[in-house]
Amino acid sequence: MDIKTNLAYIQENIRKACEKTNRDLSEITIIGVTKYVTIERTIEAMEAGVHHFGENRAEGLLEKYNHIDQPAKWHFIGTLQTRKVKDIIDKVEAIHSLDRESLAKQINNRANRVIDCFVQVNVSEEESKHGLAVADVIPFVELLAAYENIRVVGLMTMAPHVSDEEVLRKTFKDLAQLRDVIMTKNYAHAPCKYLSMGMSNDYEIAVEEGATHIRIGSKLVGS
Ligand SMILES: *Cc1c(COP(=O)(O)O)cnc(C)c1O
Repeated sequence: MDIKTNLAYIQENIRKACEKTNRDLSEITIIGVTKYVTIERTIEAMEAGVHHFGENRAEGLLEKYNHIDQPAKWHFIGTLQTRKVKDIIDKVEAIHSLDRESLAKQINNRANRVIDCFVQVNVSEEESKHGLAVADVIPFVELLAAYENIRVVGLMTMAPHVSDEEVLRKTFKDLAQLRDVIMTKNYAHAPCKYLSMGMSNDYEIAVEEGATHIRIGSKLVGS
């Protein structure tokens, strides 16, 4: 499918979800996940009006970053190996997968500016998923205060791979609730305003539940 058509369709669904829940459309950033597609297809997405891109491997991010001249904002959304931090750190708008102290330490040491990070939460506590259990998130956010180059801008999750709307909704609600608790603590290093949640199959529900960053691959650029 033509990316312009896909984007218009997604934007219309986001608009409806916002209308339903009294949210402002401008709060939502669409991240086009280009991990499945070529450089050419990524450029096509840029030309269609996508400005934020997500990659889940350092190699994929570098390949596109190095071969695309147009200005774009790159988000790292996958499991990040500590030894690869140095390769991507000066190229990213944000890292969505901060989930352990060894990674925080590496980001902190390799960065020469403050890096916006989302703490990844395994809300559904599936064994196959990365991210912290809900109960471990606040202690983890607190220990990040020691790392001056890390700013916790939000929380990220991947919902379970199910079609049951109530299960998806509950996952997003739980993440939003946790974000609200963290915000009340007014941590200087962790404003934690954002929620990175919602993918091709569940982004409308995620927006209804407060998502600010949705990560869409297959339904936007293809798979
Ligand atoms: C692949 C991926 C996405 C996008 O998935 P789609 O279902 O194709 O939209 C979003 N977030 C993460 C972390 C991913 O790895």
